[in-house]
Amino acid sequence: MELLTKRAKVLEQKPMSFMEKLYLPAILKGMAITFSHMFKKKATIHYPEEKRPFSPVFRGLHVLNRDEEGRENCTACGLCAVACPAEAITMEAAERQSNETNLYREEKYAAKYEINMLRCIFCGLCEEACPKDAIYMSETFAPSNFTRKSFIYSKEELLIPNPITDREKFDIAKGLREVQTKKN
Ligand code: SF4
Ligand code: SF4
Repeated sequence: MELLTKRAKVLEQKPMSFMEKLYLPAILKGMAITFSHMFKKKATIHYPEEKRPFSPVFRGLHVLNRDEEGRENCTACGLCAVACPAEAITMEAAERQSNETNLYREEKYAAKYEINMLRCIFCGLCEEACPKDAIYMSETFAPSNFTRKSFIYSKEELLIPNPITDREKFDIAKGLREVQTKKN
């Protein structure tokens, strides 16, 4: 019969030697390999109790930024949505009222802002396109979920905590990357 490839290996069917029939040397050899791994550096970690440090260029879940006075940075210009190759961002703009200057930094703001995390490819183009430092990608994963709808993140879910009312959570949400950037 003509073979399709020349890779076929002819199996030898030699009778087993006495040592092979004992199986013990092969078992001991296997155990020695297992034992030698006990002293090597582990490749795994106890996630989620332990976490690996992220790369400085890691791009995680999006955060909508506020300034130090707690005002939303986003001016609903739409540049992030235009830059997004996955068309994952939608928003609705609204005019700031005279009594809302403590809520929004600019005259226009995003009344609605949504990101569909199932579409997002975490490319970071929205972050780069934003002229207002209003959106950045944190070091947090998008958590797993059971419904498609729960992966559409609303503005309320994306907004960073207010530094005036919750300074600690605001600093945590800013993340290590911000601290590292300032240091460099
Ligand atoms: S990270 Fe990329 S794909 Fe995701 S929302 Fe931003 S621009 Fe779109
Ligand atoms: S996040 Fe930035 S780019 Fe996107 S609408 Fe707001 S201000 Fe414009």
